[in-house]
Amino acid sequence: MARERADQAPIERCPHCGRDLSSWERVLLQVDRALVCKSCWYRIILPVDAERDADEKERKR
Ligand SMILES: [Zn+2]
Repeated sequence: MARERADQAPIERCPHCGRDLSSWERVLLQVDRALVCKSCWYRIILPVDAERDADEKERKR
């Protein structure tokens, strides 16, 4: 079960020009956490899990 992770929706389109990302580009984005839109050259950055990691670390204490 995914707990509170659904609100972190995967990025499906360029936030700058709105171009839909191909499924392959979405994979690249997931892997690299960054992707340059080929339409407007906007650098899409995937929010890193750092916050979530820190959150879980704190819970363990
Ligand atoms: Zn774009």
